[in-house]
Amino acid sequence: MWKILKQITQTGIVSETVTPDKIITPSPEHDQIQQELLQLLGRALCIRAVDAGSCNACELELHALNNPYYNLEGMGIKFVASPRHADLLLVTGPICHNMREALLSAYDAMPHPKLVIALGECACTGGIFKENYATGGALEKHLPVDLSIPGCPPAPITILRGIRSLFATSAAAPHHPAQAQSPTPTKSPPRAPSK
Ligand code: SF4
Repeated sequence: MWKILKQITQTGIVSETVTPDKIITPSPEHDQIQQELLQLLGRALCIRAVDAGSCNACELELHALNNPYYNLEGMGIKFVASPRHADLLLVTGPICHNMREALLSAYDAMPHPKLVIALGECACTGGIFKENYATGGALEKHLPVDLSIPGCPPAPITILRGIRSLFATSAAAPHHPAQAQSPTPTKSPPRAPSK
């Protein structure tokens, strides 16, 4: 204990002093996207993210998107644990064979209308893995994809732009008032057969 106290007195305070120039504030584009999404969605958007064999860098960007700086929950967007509560399936990775069944089950469990985003080069095209003994390549070969967000990995603001572009068309918005009044579920195209 004395050793620790001695070290504390010798070292002093090493953390940085926060000065006004070090405080990061959201960019004007971020504020604009936030306002647009709030208007477009009208209520919460629930996202179920599935890692279908990613290297985890895409997940790190998703985690960054989920931090207070981007204020996702303030926009009514949140990640949920159960696909039964989700409106949007966000898929990363080159669809490895071991995850394919779980991915398709998550998709099937989602209520209609449901949307699918391929996030990152791997999910968009198969990326550097393409199709091989362990991976099934682009997500669109397995599920109907509404939007692809390329990048290796895509930055949080790119993901936000993608979500905005998906909902900019009112017909695509599951919570858009026009859709909310319609009880008819959107039928998804048939998916690729299991291997
Ligand atoms: S797109 Fe790049 S960052 Fe994302 S899972 Fe693939 S290799 Fe990793």
